[in-house]
Formats: sequence, C-alpha cells, structure tokens
Amino acid sequence: MKKNVTIIGAGLVGSLLSIYLCKRGYKVNVFERRGDMRKEDMVAGRSINLALSDRGIKALEEVGLMDDIRKICIPMHGRYLHHADGTTAFQPYGKEGQFINSVSRGELNCKLMDLAEQHGAAIAFNQKCNSINWKENSIEFEDCTSLKTQTSNFSLCFGSDGAYSAARLTHHLQHDRFQYHQYYIDFGYKELNIPAGAHGEFLMEKNALHIWPRGNYMLIALPNMDGSFTCTLFFPFEGNPSFDSLDTKEKVKAFFEKTFTDAEKLMPTLQEDFFKNPTSSLVTVKCFPWIRKDTFALIGDAAHAIVPFFGQGMNCGFEDCSVLNSLMDKHKEDWSAILPEYQSLRKPDADAIADLALNNFVEMRDKVADPKFLLQKKIEAAFSKKHPDKWIPAYSQVTFSPHIRYSNALVNGRRQEAIMQEIMSIPAIETKWESEEIEKKILEKLNV
Ligand SMILES: Cc1cc2nc3c(=O)[nH]c(=O)nc-3n(C[C@H](O)[C@H](O)[C@H](O)COP(=O)(O)OP(=O)(O)OC[C@H]3O[C@@H](n4cnc5c(N)ncnc54)[C@H](O)[C@@H]3O)c2cc1C
Repeated sequence: MKKNVTIIGAGLVGSLLSIYLCKRGYKVNVFERRGDMRKEDMVAGRSINLALSDRGIKALEEVGLMDDIRKICIPMHGRYLHHADGTTAFQPYGKEGQFINSVSRGELNCKLMDLAEQHGAAIAFNQKCNSINWKENSIEFEDCTSLKTQTSNFSLCFGSDGAYSAARLTHHLQHDRFQYHQYYIDFGYKELNIPAGAHGEFLMEKNALHIWPRGNYMLIALPNMDGSFTCTLFFPFEGNPSFDSLDTKEKVKAFFEKTFTDAEKLMPTLQEDFFKNPTSSLVTVKCFPWIRKDTFALIGDAAHAIVPFFGQGMNCGFEDCSVLNSLMDKHKEDWSAILPEYQSLRKPDADAIADLALNNFVEMRDKVADPKFLLQKKIEAAFSKKHPDKWIPAYSQVTFSPHIRYSNALVNGRRQEAIMQEIMSIPAIETKWESEEIEKKILEKLNV
C-alpha cells in the first residue's frame, strides 16, 4: 500500500483529489505552478464562473464538502433566451426542482485549497513541473520566483495540471505508442461583464443561464454572488463577424448594439473589456494511456480537456475522483489494480462527454432559437413526464443523472434523437404532438 502521494496542479481537480486521498490516510504533497491565489489576489477581477451540476455535486458530497460549496453557488433553473427580435423566453433545464449552479471558478478553487489544507494536504506554490524521470520516479520542479530547480521523488503521482499538462507531455514523449488527439474549434471566447445595479441588485433574472443565440455564435451570462454577471462571447476567430473583424471600439459598440441590444445596455465597460480581456481558444484533448503501471495517472483536464458547451469539464474531473475512490474501496488500495480499472472505466466516458460537448455548441448557439427544435424538446419532456422509466432527455442524462455513464448517455441520446427525427417528420406534428397517437408511436419505436 502506498501512503505518500504527489499531485501536480492544485486546480479544481487536484485540490479535490487531495481531499479524497487525505481522508483515506494518505500523506499528500501538491505542487502548483501559480502563486497562492488566496493571498495574491490572482483571481483577476471577474474570473469565469462555471456550472456545477449533479456529477460534480455527488463527488463533493461524497467527501462532505457540498455544504461548504453550496454557500457560494447560485441555482440556475433554466436557460433564459434573448432572441434577436428582442423577445425573451425561459426554458427549464429539467423537471421541477432540477437546476445547475453558477459558481466562481476562483472562489471554488480557493475554497477547495482551504479544505485540502484543513484535511492535511501540503500545497507548495510557484512550483512548476518541468519533466518527470520515469526510471527514477522523480519530478523536476522549477521555482517560478527563484527559477531554481529541485527534484522530488514519488511512489504514486497524479498529473492534474490541466488542458496543457506538462505531466502529460513528459508521459507522452517517453511512451511508446502514446495516442494523442488535439482538436481546436474555429471559435474562441472572451469574457465580458454586466455589473450589479446601483444597490447591488441583479439587472437580469438571477436564477438562470442567459443565452443570446445568434446562429453561428452566441453570448452567455452566468450570475455572480455580488449581483454581477460574467458574460462569455463564443465567436469565430476569423470571417465576418469575428474577433478579427471587430478591431476597433466603435465596431464593437455598433455590433453589440445591433446584435445583443438588451445586453449592450447593461455593459458600461464593454469596449474596454473587449480589448483588455484575452481571446482564448477552445481545445479538445483525447489521449491514451492515462496511466503508468501502479505509479502514475492523469486526471481531470490533463486526461480529457473538452469544450465547455455542456458545462461538464469540471464535473467530469470531479467524477474521476469519485470513481477512483470507489476503486480504492474495491481493490483495497492496491494501485496495480486501481489504475488500470480507473483508466478503462473513465476513458470511454471522457471520450463520450468530449463528443457530446462539441455537439452541444450547435444546440446552444443555434437550435435553442428554432421553434421546431423547441417543439421537439416539448414532446420529449411531455413523454418523459409520462414515462420516466423509458425516456430521460439527453441533457438530463448528462446533467442530472450521475448514475448514467456519459458513454451510455451518448448512445441513449443518439437513439432518442433518431426516434425524434421520425416523430418530427410526421405531417402536422405541431397540431397533434400531445395526442395518444404520437405517444403510441414513440412507445413502438422504443420497443423495436
Ligand atoms: C470558458 C470555459 C467555461 C467552462 N465552463 C465549465 C462549466 O460550466 N462547467 C464545468 O464543469 N466545466 C467548465 N469548464 C471546464 C473546467 O474549467 C475544467 O474542466 C476544469 O477547470 C478542470 O480542472 P483541472 O483541475 O483538471 O484543471 P485546471 O483547473 O486547469 O487546473 C490545473 C492546475 O494545474 C496548474 N498547472 C498547470 N501546469 C502546471 C505545471 N507544469 N506544474 C504545476 N502545476 C501546473 C495550473 O496552474 C492549475 O492550477 C469550462 C472551461 C472553460 C475554458
């Protein structure tokens, strides 16, 4: 049994993993490249907020953290759509009582680091992993302030250093037949801001995820605890309109006034923010293997970076921790059994959520504004309400059903979509979607 663990990266997943391991009696040393964000105010201004949903919540609950985390969450019960013609509409995410949570990435990370230290983890900051020597089982860390390097030996190490993982790279470079697939979409993102009102009040509906779907691109906004909203513009890098084409403050203002009219009125610092805040890219990473014998594993974004359109990257990484925990029970801390099973369980699920997330971009930016798509969702919701054992909408399988593996959600979702395409092609479906005839047809198709 190995009782010392080294974790590279004190991000969301590394911090949570350290708590899981400390609770089982491991001595955990975490090495983090950045300074301590709790002291250095590094959560630059308005850091992005994330949607925390049931898979992530389950993992946090398992180690008793959710009561602490709930205090910094804002429930979002559905999508609040801002259409191009100025009308708005609310679409619930699931059944009554089902919601996702807006949480500040920076605050959540700080909280998890606090809790990690309270549970006994030691976090060393400004320690950048440069390389790993797989023969000696040692890691070279560079101190980002003094630039001095030091070597640290490990018996069990997790690489949780994010989408551009140095641990993955050094694993990759020294591994025969390492599979690596990296895919950038042609869209980037930029964070913008809607501040709170004069008395700290929310200037739009608080308990919703706001979306301005515009076909090829979209703006979204999630609420923050201080009454503001963090907005994210998902937009093409090139073409017209694009980040390239909006190259002056005047063009930005004119474009937002025309395209996101109601949002623009609430964005007093739009032009400054647009040019001050970075334009970032969106990457999907699929790789294999994730492990080396019983000594090393990738986890979180380092193993599976995905695009954010299903709001699942962090949730998936938290679920990795929960699965590892159940395997520690199953294999009584025998890491030569735990790591291979962790990899074989999680790899298909990570691949599935990566594909689901890419598909969901089109749904969010375009389909949610299409009346035919909305009717389809209505039919599915009505059928699911009547036959909850037979039909769980694809979004709910991913977001509210942690007992369903992502890989099964992908297969089920494709099957349901094929059935719905047939139903939607029935003439005059909009007039008879609530009829017994349609219900029967769906039941028949499910039984084939
Ligand atoms: C725009 C956007 C929106 C998103 N929205 C959502 C959402 O709504 N819901 C959701 O679930 N997920 C969302 N995600 C995904 C989520 O942010 C990630 O999945 C999550 O942060 C992964 O956690 P992690 O700990 O694996 O990696 P990270 O959070 O990236 O942490 C990695 C850590 O490793 C450190 N590190 C990096 N390199 C080194 C090194 N060489 N040595 C030592 N330390 C190092 C970093 O400083 C960092 O602290 C979103 C992502 C983006 C980009």
